[in-house]
Amino acid sequence: MAKKRKRKQKRTRRTHKYQIREHPQNMRLGNMLDDLGDVHNHFLALEKRYYRRYGLYAGRYRLQPHLTKLLKRTKHHWAWIPRDTLDEVIVRIHITYERFFDGLGGLPKFKRKDRYRSAKFESAYKLEEGRVRISFKAWDESSQTFKFNKRWFSFHQHREWKGHVRYIQILRDAVGTFWLYVVSDDASTDPYSATGESVGIDFGMDTYLTLNTGEKIEHPQPLKQSLTELRKLNKSLSRKVKGSNNWWRAVRELARLYRHIANQRKDWHWKLATNLCKRFDTIVTETLNLDGMKRLWGRKVSDLSFGQFVEILKFKCFKHKREFLQIGQWTPTTKPCSDCGYHNKNLTLDDRQWTCPECGSHHDRDINAAINILRAACGPSVEQM
Ligand SMILES: [Zn+2]
Repeated sequence: MAKKRKRKQKRTRRTHKYQIREHPQNMRLGNMLDDLGDVHNHFLALEKRYYRRYGLYAGRYRLQPHLTKLLKRTKHHWAWIPRDTLDEVIVRIHITYERFFDGLGGLPKFKRKDRYRSAKFESAYKLEEGRVRISFKAWDESSQTFKFNKRWFSFHQHREWKGHVRYIQILRDAVGTFWLYVVSDDASTDPYSATGESVGIDFGMDTYLTLNTGEKIEHPQPLKQSLTELRKLNKSLSRKVKGSNNWWRAVRELARLYRHIANQRKDWHWKLATNLCKRFDTIVTETLNLDGMKRLWGRKVSDLSFGQFVEILKFKCFKHKREFLQIGQWTPTTKPCSDCGYHNKNLTLDDRQWTCPECGSHHDRDINAAINILRAACGPSVEQM
């Protein structure tokens, strides 16, 4: 029940991502994330120690009061960061543990502090056109109290966000670029006009998407395209002295290429999802067993990134008021003949084409599957024919 509620809430949240302009002051953001990495490691270690001693899970409601004490005594140097941002680190550990107890994920891990990626601000910020103010704190010797130390960061506001802003996040990526995420309540939709068309989509390793109309869509596979470039950069990295300035430059160079590849992939996914949403009222796909596919196919699955595409497609369908359906993982879609329903038990993975012994119709394996997928969700099942 709780899970369902959360998912529904998420739907109305929308995140806008903006690049924070480079400025020497951004070092402050970097230092903050480094410190948050320290906080994360400190509290995770504490959680583990608590468990060893008492055999109990401490949880955020024991840890947060402890943070208050730490800030006054030994960890004075964390106190410049807004309190809700520090608390969020503990909340995240708490959420990861809860997911673990529910069997939904792994245990939280210790992080290298320069790998700590994001900070959440719920109150200590102010947004204006193209800039954001963050209220850090600074110790004032004369009054022996903390004074606000407000800092502005400008960002490239390429589009507007809508609705009430819930919170913001500052992110640091592997290249060292800082990003601002603005998360707002926004359930607005932008319905496309009805086309009266439905489509069944079969995902595949050889052909990315096959539609029941017979259309086949190939994936550009950006990682594969950049493999030579990647090897070159990796080689250049391995020749450098680890930890030297040149080595760090090569690390960033490599990270930049990976970011570029990820952007290319995402861009193509958005465009494809838009195209499908414009053309069809109802979109039907299979539920994918992503973990199984990764084990079987490795790098190629990551490059095709089915999971990301499905998420984007789901969102686009919600936004443009299209129906998005997923049929169960165990619904047979490949083997039944889409014309007469004959179950072809002898079909192997290598048979790209086959002829139905019952009705004699000739099938392309993927198109046949796409037709069955559409029918499983929208039409009478093949068995009933
Ligand atoms: Zn047949």
